[in-house]
Amino acid sequence: MGARASLPLNGIPASPGIVVGAAHLLRWEVPEVPTRVIPDEAIPAELERLNAALRKAVERLQYVRERAERTAGAAESAIFDVQISVIQDEELAGRVRLMIGQGFTAERAFDTVMVESREHFARSANAMMRERVGDLTDVHIRVLSVLLGLPDYDPVDLPKGANAILITHDLTPSLTLQLDRECIAAIATDAGTRTSHVAILARSLGLPAVVGLLDATTRIETGDRVILDGTAGTLLVRPTTAELSQADARSRAEALQRAQLAKVAGAEAITADGVRLTLRANVDLPDEVGTAATSGADGVGLMRTEFLVVGRASMPTEDEQYESYSNVIRAFDGRPVVIRTFDVGGDKLPVGGYPHEPNPFLGWRAIRMCLDEPELFKTQLRALLRAAVHGDVRIMLPLVVSVDEVRQARFLLEESARELAARGIAHRADIPLGVMIETPAAVLTADALAAEVAFFSIGTNDLVQYTLAVDRGNASLASRFTPLHPAVLRLIRRTVRVGADHGLDVSVCGEMASEPIMAFALIGLGVRTLSVAPLSVPAVKQIIRGIHTSVAAEAVTRACDAGTPAAAEAVLRAALEQELSENP
Ligand code: PEP
Ligand code: MG
Repeated sequence: MGARASLPLNGIPASPGIVVGAAHLLRWEVPEVPTRVIPDEAIPAELERLNAALRKAVERLQYVRERAERTAGAAESAIFDVQISVIQDEELAGRVRLMIGQGFTAERAFDTVMVESREHFARSANAMMRERVGDLTDVHIRVLSVLLGLPDYDPVDLPKGANAILITHDLTPSLTLQLDRECIAAIATDAGTRTSHVAILARSLGLPAVVGLLDATTRIETGDRVILDGTAGTLLVRPTTAELSQADARSRAEALQRAQLAKVAGAEAITADGVRLTLRANVDLPDEVGTAATSGADGVGLMRTEFLVVGRASMPTEDEQYESYSNVIRAFDGRPVVIRTFDVGGDKLPVGGYPHEPNPFLGWRAIRMCLDEPELFKTQLRALLRAAVHGDVRIMLPLVVSVDEVRQARFLLEESARELAARGIAHRADIPLGVMIETPAAVLTADALAAEVAFFSIGTNDLVQYTLAVDRGNASLASRFTPLHPAVLRLIRRTVRVGADHGLDVSVCGEMASEPIMAFALIGLGVRTLSVAPLSVPAVKQIIRGIHTSVAAEAVTRACDAGTPAAAEAVLRAALEQELSENP
């Protein structure tokens, strides 16, 4: 507790839990560089300053790489080798030295050369070169922070058990890889919303998180004592003794509640009127598999495969992917595992960055990228077909807007199976293929899609974004991101009906399924399969066991007809509260 008054900051609850700890500020954006020229006699010293900074940056990267190799594996840590080779590139350093020779400071010269290189790489027709833009950006930030002496610009290693609360603008994939999870107790970001990747990642890691704080990085200093409440979405900076003891009491109450909920984990997901639901877990990262497998879930409803490509130096090989998928499939021991093909682009950036797109969420992402890069896609499909011999695997395509995409994907899937057969490699060819329903286009043509696929899974994070035209990752729009908007509810209702007409299973794997009131609405709309973060399985199971499908159906019919999201929410909340008071 310092001399300054405590400062409450409100953000968006992204991952539950209350943590008291010391703030650790991390900046990861290209810093401002002052323009300054130097006299001729200062040039040799400036050149030496550049060399020293480059050496220091390389040493740091070697250290980070070794640590990433220990925690995440050799493939993941290779990204840092690429960054080291950028710094050691003689042509690039030569251009910087030339500018210093003309009287520019080392930081001004380095900044100019890096801006030019990033633009050049981003415009390249060669995909491999475009993939390097993210690495160039990381190098740009790292070297400038050394030259300018900015201590907050390094994801430094914290002492073990530091219990630090990481405060940063946004958590990029390469930053995530550098973090020492043993020292970080919670995450707070200026950017982000409940459905942005940082929030999903924090939930996967079981780290309490508050996102969408807008300007926390300008209001907190490293070392400030902070209470982060990921359940309420608040950050209290420099709390008083009374506030600390309140937080302690809340944290103990939450732990108790979690322990009680854990007892529900093994119970059946059956409603109070006897309808058996299927409750599956979402798996985003390999280290989550154990938690997911023992969470009481009926299999995996969504395995995101982006971790295999995000923040990596090169695309994963077929064998490497086969191992990853097989691990999950084996852990679920015969229970269904729905694996989604690469959904990169948007807020999930692949291998070393991406060409800048003016509208990434409407851009070259997910199934679009996979169909345009058939070799990349087929490598994944072959790995999936091979891994499928170990259990009940289903393949799911993201961001589908048209039947053509499904047909092309199926063609590539069949071709992949033929290739494996020709090579005599064990695989399963008859793997069910489903689509994610994430766009109004998919909902409105669901009947045509139904004729082509084995199941639907509604991705409400994107469906809400594309229906309401609200960027899911924009913290300033978070209050307008309303999954209970009647338009969204009606689209889900329509999808469920089309699914029923065609005898298809329709699940929901977006974040909506994890929110009690929204899960209630989904069950009312006729959804019988939900897939949620592993840590949310017990809480959602408890809701399921406390409600009647008939009551939920009646409430959601009224919600669909409510004029506004707030009115829809009020109807549902009243009905759910009534249900839970009668069936505690
Ligand atoms: C969704 O859009 O709801 C979804 C589950 O996919 P992601 O969050 O990975 O885009
Ligand atoms: Mg999605």
